Amino acid sequence: MAYFAGVDIGGTKIAVGLGTENGKILLEERFPTAEVERGDEGLTRIAAVVRELCDRQQIAVRDLAAVGVGSPGPLDHGTLLRTANLPLWEGINLSAGLHNLLQIPCRVENDATAAGMGEWMFGAGRGVNDMVYVTVSTGIGAGFIANGQLYGGEQGNAGELGHVVMEPGGPLCHCGNRGCLETLASGTAIARIGQEQKENSPYLRAVDRVDAPTVFAGARAKDDVCQKIIDDMARNLGRGLSFLVNLQNPARIVLGGGVMENGDMLLPMVIKYTENYSMPALFKAADIVLAGLGQDSGLAGALAVALVARI
Ligand SMILES: [Zn+2]
Repeated sequence: MAYFAGVDIGGTKIAVGLGTENGKILLEERFPTAEVERGDEGLTRIAAVVRELCDRQQIAVRDLAAVGVGSPGPLDHGTLLRTANLPLWEGINLSAGLHNLLQIPCRVENDATAAGMGEWMFGAGRGVNDMVYVTVSTGIGAGFIANGQLYGGEQGNAGELGHVVMEPGGPLCHCGNRGCLETLASGTAIARIGQEQKENSPYLRAVDRVDAPTVFAGARAKDDVCQKIIDDMARNLGRGLSFLVNLQNPARIVLGGGVMENGDMLLPMVIKYTENYSMPALFKAADIVLAGLGQDSGLAGALAVALVARI
């Protein structure tokens, strides 16, 4: 049996797992990102956890076929460029660094791409050659599979769907632009708009702190303002997805991320709006479904990246 290591780097925690080629995670360990100050310390700690997991599995590190990493982007060939969540990791070459420490093949992809690889190999994207995974969470990102292969673009950053401009002059985005999809349809956006509309909503007025789950709860309780916020969000997301339908002609669009935990309510709305804005023939070919891996999507995605990195 071939073993692989996966590393899911996030703004709040880093997960390291050992798994097999069918995507099964055998062992995993997590630690808070804040425990390591700089990127080089982070890599040393990650390598130490990989060694520890190999010990527990009673294999040698050299028995690992590869290590795959999912990291916040943007990246340039495995090097972290400026990222809001990991400022002290800027300029760190994750793939070269981990390869040096572990002496096994290493491949790094941005987290949305990695999660998309996981869904394609082990989750809701199985069985198609052209798909796109879209994560709707604190931010919005996408990962493409095209012609049965990962499509990363020149630097590996393809799929920055959250930063297509939907509303020129709209709300300021952390990328520096205004009116990005992320400022209109992410969990962060739902919370911000909920806060802005608080005084108009009997439901929101009664709570101390408005976050995205509060707005969804309000919409479920038939509060008009909350329903309108979710409907606007779904329309913007559907319009964003229509770009993917028209540009990529995917067989499947897989929707994941924390906001899609409200998929029972959101999915029918998002499908309707995607249809409204897409070319009919291309929309018909695109099955829009919820992600299948849930909590494990980060590590499963990193394992999928490792599978591709194997020599
Ligand atoms: Zn932006």
